[in-house]
Amino acid sequence: GIRFEKVVKRFGQNVVLRELDFTVAPGERVTLIGPSGSGKTTILRLLMTLEKVDDGVIRVGDEPLSHMDKGGKLVPANEKHLHEMRKKIGMVFQQFNLFPNMNVLRNLTEGPVHVLGLSKDEAAERARKLLDMVGLADKAAAHPTQLSGGQQQRVAIARALAMEPQVLLLDEVTSALDPELVVGVQDLLRDIAKESDLTILCVTHEMGFAKDISDRVLMFDQGQIVEEGPPEQIFGEPSEQRTRDFLQAVL
Ligand code: ATP
Repeated sequence: GIRFEKVVKRFGQNVVLRELDFTVAPGERVTLIGPSGSGKTTILRLLMTLEKVDDGVIRVGDEPLSHMDKGGKLVPANEKHLHEMRKKIGMVFQQFNLFPNMNVLRNLTEGPVHVLGLSKDEAAERARKLLDMVGLADKAAAHPTQLSGGQQQRVAIARALAMEPQVLLLDEVTSALDPELVVGVQDLLRDIAKESDLTILCVTHEMGFAKDISDRVLMFDQGQIVEEGPPEQIFGEPSEQRTRDFLQAVL
C-alpha cells in the first residue's frame, strides 16, 4: 500500500501539500478528484520520486520512499534505495510517453531486461502475454507513431504492468485521447483492476471512470482532503459544499 504522513510540498512560496495524511491499503483502488491546481499530479510525481517532499514521509509497502529510517531518524534516501523503491511503482501518463525509437515489443522488454534483470527471452514472453491481454498481439513490431492514441495508451499500460509493480499510478490516462477511444482504455483498466491485486492510485477528471474503478474517492482541494468515501457516497450524497460545487462544475 501507500502511506502519506504529514507530507508537505512547496514550490517557492506556494504550499501545494499541507501536512497531507492518507493511506491506500494493499490492493485498494483510490481515485483523487478535485479542482485544477489542487495538487493531485504533485502527489503522483512525489510517488514516482520525480519530486521530493519538504517534510513528512511517504511509505510504499511500509518502506519510506524519499527518506530512510535510521534509528528513528529520517535521512535522505540514496540512489540505490530509490531505485529499489521505483521498481514497486508503475505509472501511466496522460501523454503515453512511449520510447519513440523502439518498437512496441522493445518498449515492453526494455525495463524488465535492464532494471529487473530478466533474460531477453523471458522479457519477450512476458511482453507477448501482456500485448495479447491489451488486444495488441499483432502490433509487437510496430513503432509507437504507427499506432492510434488508444493503442499507444494500451501499450503504455502493458509496459507498466511488465514491471510487475505493486502499485499502479494512473494520471489522467484518457484525457489526451479522442472521445471514441476513451471507453476502450477505461474498460481495459477496469478489467485489470478486477483481475489483479494491484494497488491503484488514480487521478482523473472522468467521474464515470472514477466511480467504476474506485473503492474509495478522495476529494482534494488546496493541498488537503476535503472529503472521502466510497464512490456512491461522494458522487451520490457528498456532505461538503466544496465537493458539491466541484461535482456540479464537472458533471
Ligand atoms: P490539474 O488537475 O490541473 O492537473 P493538479 O491538481 O494535478 O491540477 P498540480 O499539478 O499538482 O495540480 O499542481 C499543484 C500546484 O503546484 C499548482 O499551483 C502548480 O502551479 C504548482 N506546481 C506544480 N508543479 C510545479 C513546479 N514544478 N514548479 C512550480 N510550481 C509547480
